[in-house]
Amino acid sequence: MFGLMMDQPLLISSVLEFAAKYHGESEIVSRTVEGPIHRYTYADAQSRSKQLAKALQALGVSEGDRVATLAWNGYRHYELYYGVSGMGAVCHMINPRLFPGQISYIVNHAEDSVVFTDLTFVELLEGMVSELGTVKAFVVMTDEANMPETSLPNVHCYETLLAAQDDDYTWPVFDENTASSMCYSSGTTGNPKGVLYSHRSTVLHAMASLAPDMLNISARDSFMPVVPMFHVNAWGVPYSVTMAGAKLVMPGMEMDGESLHELIDGERVTLSAGVPTVWLGLLDYLEKSGKSVDSFKYCVIGGSATPRAMSVAMEENHGVHVLHAWGMTEMSPLGTVNWPKHGMEDETEEARYDRQVKQGRPCYGVDMKIVNDDNETLPEDGEAFGELKVRGFWVCSQYYKGEGDSHDDDGWFATGDVATIDAGGYMHITDRSKDVIKSGGEWISSIELENIAVGHPGVFEAAVIGIGHPKWDERPLLVVVRNEGSELTAEDLISYYDGKVAKWWIPDDVAFVDELPHTATGKLLKMDLRDRFEDYTLPTAE
Ligand code: AMP
Repeated sequence: MFGLMMDQPLLISSVLEFAAKYHGESEIVSRTVEGPIHRYTYADAQSRSKQLAKALQALGVSEGDRVATLAWNGYRHYELYYGVSGMGAVCHMINPRLFPGQISYIVNHAEDSVVFTDLTFVELLEGMVSELGTVKAFVVMTDEANMPETSLPNVHCYETLLAAQDDDYTWPVFDENTASSMCYSSGTTGNPKGVLYSHRSTVLHAMASLAPDMLNISARDSFMPVVPMFHVNAWGVPYSVTMAGAKLVMPGMEMDGESLHELIDGERVTLSAGVPTVWLGLLDYLEKSGKSVDSFKYCVIGGSATPRAMSVAMEENHGVHVLHAWGMTEMSPLGTVNWPKHGMEDETEEARYDRQVKQGRPCYGVDMKIVNDDNETLPEDGEAFGELKVRGFWVCSQYYKGEGDSHDDDGWFATGDVATIDAGGYMHITDRSKDVIKSGGEWISSIELENIAVGHPGVFEAAVIGIGHPKWDERPLLVVVRNEGSELTAEDLISYYDGKVAKWWIPDDVAFVDELPHTATGKLLKMDLRDRFEDYTLPTAE
């Protein structure tokens, strides 16, 4: 017997429809690429997204077509999220920080038919246009006054396209499993792989991520996603914040400490989300300028491990509580967020900071387990560590065009992360499986060693890699960028580990460098470091 409840498909357009109706006056504020701050409301955003849907039809875009974006966080990009998916096409967000060769590979692989670009990336596209076989039109996301001279063929101006349409448009209703958007995973080896989201997975992910134990968003918040909309849907924030009717503040291309502070203060931002690197910039600016961030209550940090020292500095110097989060492109992306549970009210400050180093607990909708090399499930005791596997409502079931399968026969997805899970369900990433250091048959967590190093006041950034060793197979080398003016020595750093980890985990040596290599999404590019230190001989190996 079936229940007798309405069977309404979960469609992305319904999220904006809701916000425009019940939070129509709530603001979306953007720092534009052209310079000025732009503000309008959810009601305006819905009108313009409908104009955009009609403009797309006029360009010949139909259901299922892939429409690419190369753009920062801003209101026009937001309109593309809703306009493209809302009319039944697939919004394909491309990370402009990838190498040009990877971008053209991705456009061709996705067979994008139209490419929307911010002014910033026009030149980048001009340089690869001859390789983009499937693209029928380019649209520059600006107005006529700012339209550049460009050699791009079939090029249109965004505002002119919209001005030619009215907003008399009803969002179409279709199957909730229809593809809505796609991102390519930014793996550091091999070609990027496409992850194709559906309307259903996107809406479920947004509903779940609103909850108090996830991003904790309500209509009383002003949320600034610093995580770019070209990297895993800005962690779904353009959907979840809209669903909550909260104020949305978008920083555009200026992500330095001063620019972020100006928006946080001016727009009374309560919540934000981003990778650790951007918060280093904000902390540095606040310290040097002596300015405060009174409205800012919670900061979601993920994408890379959040060092303990960052949670401490945010909380103690600025009153911002850090929520360590973990996820992946393949997971829409949210998997876990670190909030305490009932019964943990008496947790000491030190215990809380220790807990915050972990990536947190999953919410309903994500299931996790850790396994050994034989795919046997390991105990969840906070000690055993193995490869983390996941499944859930917003986890990919396969890659676009069936490439590179990472699923086992029971449908679990192998994340490539190595983790522990404790009895309370708190997951702690100890490494990427390819970064873990194998010493004498045991594993050493490079992330844990990095976290300790950045806790030293003389250290700006740190990476730990395994170096070949005749006796132990591999031993850890700590590669460090010193803080300006610091005269820190290798001996200082090595003795800093005393009592903080097991003796055999302590790095054998320290190399000082001017900067560390990063991927297009701000993660440490350890493959490059390993290449650079390939012939390095550790003092213990001589
Ligand atoms: P991406 O698909 O680019 O978002 O990258 C996902 C990967 O980033 C994960 O598989 C992890 O290796 C890493 N990652 C994300 N969040 C965290 C975190 N909080 N701590 C450590 N690694 C993380």
